[in-house]
Amino acid sequence: MCSKGVRVVKLYKLSQATFTFDIRQHSCYSESWETEWSEHTQQCQECPQPRAPTPAPMQSSLQPLCLSLEKLHRVKDSMLEAMDRGLSRRTHAQATVRMLPNFIRSTPDERGEFLVLELRDTDLRVLLVELSGDTRQMVTVKQQLFPVSDAMAQGPGEELFAYMATCLCEFLDRLRLPRRAFQLGFSFPFHCRQTRLDQSYLISWTKSFKCPGVEGRDVVELLQNAINKQDRYPITVIAVVNDTTGTMMSCEASAEPCEVGLVVDAGTNSCFMAEARHVEMVEESEGRMGVVTEWGSFGDDGTLNDMLSPYDRLVDEASLNPGKSRFEKMISVLYLGEIVRHILATQGGLFSERTTPALLTKGSVQTRDILEITDEQVGLVRAQCVLRQLGLEASDQDCFSMQQVCSTVCIRAASLCAAGLAAILSHMCRNRELTHLKTSVAVDGAMFRDHAKFSQTLQQLVKQLAPECDVTLVQAEDGSGKGIAMVAAVASRQVAQRLQVNQTLALLQLSPDALGKVQALLRREMELGLKKETHAMSSVRMLPTYICATPDGSERGNFLALDLGGTNFRVLLVQVGSREQGGVQIVSEVYSIPPYMAQGPGSQLFDHIVECIMDFQAKQGMMGQTLPLGFTFSFPCQHTGLDQGVLLSWTKGFNASDCVGQDVVKLLREAVKRKNHFALDVVAIVNDTVGTMMSCGYDDPSCEVGLIVGTGTNACYMEELRNVGTLAGGEGRMCVNMEWGAFGDNGCLDAFVTPFDRQVDEASLNPGRQRFEKLISGMYLGEIVRRILLELTAKGLLFRGRPSPKLQTRDIFQTKFLSSIESDGLALRQVCAILEGLGLHVTCEDSVLVREVCQVVARRAAQLCGAGVAAVVEKIRENRGLEQLSVTVGVDGTLYKLHPHFAQEVQKTVQLLAPRCSVTFLRSEDGSGKGAALIAAVACRVARHQQA
Ligand code: ADP
Ligand code: MG
Repeated sequence: MCSKGVRVVKLYKLSQATFTFDIRQHSCYSESWETEWSEHTQQCQECPQPRAPTPAPMQSSLQPLCLSLEKLHRVKDSMLEAMDRGLSRRTHAQATVRMLPNFIRSTPDERGEFLVLELRDTDLRVLLVELSGDTRQMVTVKQQLFPVSDAMAQGPGEELFAYMATCLCEFLDRLRLPRRAFQLGFSFPFHCRQTRLDQSYLISWTKSFKCPGVEGRDVVELLQNAINKQDRYPITVIAVVNDTTGTMMSCEASAEPCEVGLVVDAGTNSCFMAEARHVEMVEESEGRMGVVTEWGSFGDDGTLNDMLSPYDRLVDEASLNPGKSRFEKMISVLYLGEIVRHILATQGGLFSERTTPALLTKGSVQTRDILEITDEQVGLVRAQCVLRQLGLEASDQDCFSMQQVCSTVCIRAASLCAAGLAAILSHMCRNRELTHLKTSVAVDGAMFRDHAKFSQTLQQLVKQLAPECDVTLVQAEDGSGKGIAMVAAVASRQVAQRLQVNQTLALLQLSPDALGKVQALLRREMELGLKKETHAMSSVRMLPTYICATPDGSERGNFLALDLGGTNFRVLLVQVGSREQGGVQIVSEVYSIPPYMAQGPGSQLFDHIVECIMDFQAKQGMMGQTLPLGFTFSFPCQHTGLDQGVLLSWTKGFNASDCVGQDVVKLLREAVKRKNHFALDVVAIVNDTVGTMMSCGYDDPSCEVGLIVGTGTNACYMEELRNVGTLAGGEGRMCVNMEWGAFGDNGCLDAFVTPFDRQVDEASLNPGRQRFEKLISGMYLGEIVRRILLELTAKGLLFRGRPSPKLQTRDIFQTKFLSSIESDGLALRQVCAILEGLGLHVTCEDSVLVREVCQVVARRAAQLCGAGVAAVVEKIRENRGLEQLSVTVGVDGTLYKLHPHFAQEVQKTVQLLAPRCSVTFLRSEDGSGKGAALIAAVACRVARHQQA
């Protein structure tokens, strides 16, 4: 044929063979090719005469192999359904696409030196692979092949594994390396149920293997035992891998992550990084998990029946496993030659209607030949050659037809592969809740490597079938060797990192024993604090509050309440009526206290407070009225009466001057005097814990403990007056404000304090003070987490070792982040959003680790708080000489109320440490406001009593 003829023919072939595209969109397409051809052949002596080079029957016989775009979409959709069935626990066992987890949790950029042992069809390959960790990953130091005979492949399993161990030793002997420990990745390409990166149970042998005694067993353990038996080299098998996974992992660290592996060789298979929560066969719900699809058996349930051509049926019937591996039989190298042979053998109009025995013999057409025949340059010559070997006299026309058949079969394989790959990509995009996915796919095997049209078709069709995904197909080099080394590297890094993470976090993990110790320590401090002689030695002050009665429900009237002691200052009007009148009704106004006010001169702070009260009264139209006032002042105060409280120290970010040592009520009255125009009737000053207990007590008379876990933490409870040594004895009970935030200020908690806590303490306004509070409360938890994150980053365990400038800013990590990061159902994507807000580039592993840190810090806080409550309720029980105590704890504070697991953890700990107390936790609604008013009401009621 002349060169112009070749060009025209090329166009023709395009139009016929690439039928899955619209040929008119192809750049070489010319409307006039037919005319061109006929004009050309009329003049040209070299080119064959018939106008249409392919006889019509040929076209119709290829028709069943032609898959329209619409059909491919259907294949994709059924693949997606099959994948979902494989992933679901309920349908996994029956699924055709098994979706087996491979316990790969991240794609790599790794370094290190690893041994690789690869069991293949007829041999064993041992490699020593060094990973440089940069973009040009691997250097193979050495490799050696050892034959595996049929006898070995079918002999006792023990012998096979012993042989592997011997080969390893022989290989290392030859290298004459200094004796040291090796980590090994094991490639075991059989059907396995993997349960860990280093644990995989053989389901069944395939290919030419059939060693008794291995099925159902962990192949890592078998190999490790065999290695240990040799007792020559200290080799640890750290990962077992399937070849598809190896391919995915071998892909060079390029711009986008490579999260899909595809192998089209003798067989076909694929793997990808799925969201762990969708892989129901594993317990994990965090992060990603590699899944090997085992898609070769897609269609075994009949899904693909309407795509099957008569030739596929012939190939299947003659195969070793009829009815099985339907998808594989349309795609992989092992079968394409056979499909072509069947077409040629059954096709009329070829080879002058002759066949030969060779053409009718299974296996006489090799897929390798087919790939060559589809080549634009040498294909026709190859066709001639192959046909001649089959004993056929082939005309130009026959060669041409042969080429067309081969292209058609290959392109169908590529199209089906594309549909499968598109399903994987769409699945990833959908389950990551993305609108757009950018990823690389590592491809290995002869089809992609040796057949340009296959790779082009695959690439083009994937784009059409999964338009939401931006994919780059990358040819994997030595997928198995390098990839397995990569997996081993990841495994080794994960093991090492886990160890480091565990070491870091272990400091914050408290055993039940440790919690019991905390409980006992607090109990001892409580006793010390209550006794007059030892009071000064205790870190908890156990302050009498002069509150001896809880509300009895008969209180009535309107009261004013103030709430100072945390984030905001509030003024409230509380109307206490009978239940019929609607019970307690509250109107309130929030005023902010800026830091310069909280840490400036005391007079300025109290002036501001009075201005706020005046503003509130004006707004409520109560100027000139003097209502009894209850003042919730949530700082440690020494009371000498209900309406007197001397400030002992500031906490929680307050540090106003000239206040410590002063009576707070007096400071307030002086400020009122300075304003000089109204009167206040302060009847009680109380702590927020007391307010909380009182407000819950109004609804539940057994509420005898108050607990706060907000900006700070504190507790109060009803103590026997006879135990309150700091007062002159008496009958009955009094509420004691423990000021437990200071627990540990005498060093008694030092064994539980971590370096992170020390850093937070040292940078605080009150170093060395409020040690218990600094382990528990909202003001500090976020900061503790931040310090841990910095430490993990410095150790290279987080954020690739690079903290953002923002993360280095004090208090930037808010405690409310702990709540959102831990709330169930909040996808890790949102964790990422929070972290990205802090200028961090996070991987999925990063966000899983950050979440773990948040969990550990919050859990410790809740458990310590629980240990505190346990100490309190046990004391109440013992005070009363009861076998069993039923008591209610009134709780307030945003951390307790909004953190998703905090309350539960507190309760669990109390149950564990105080089994003889049945403790109910009652969340107070506006404990400080309502409580202060109720105390004022009780005080008024008691006073009226005494006057009467
Ligand atoms: P206060 O103790 O000052 O009276 P709160 O009880 O409202 O006030 O507690 C405020 C503290 O709660 C803040 O310091 C903050 O650390 C913490 N916080 C705020 N929002 C949340 C949240 N969603 N989850 C956990 N903690 C929170
Ligand atoms: Mg509060």
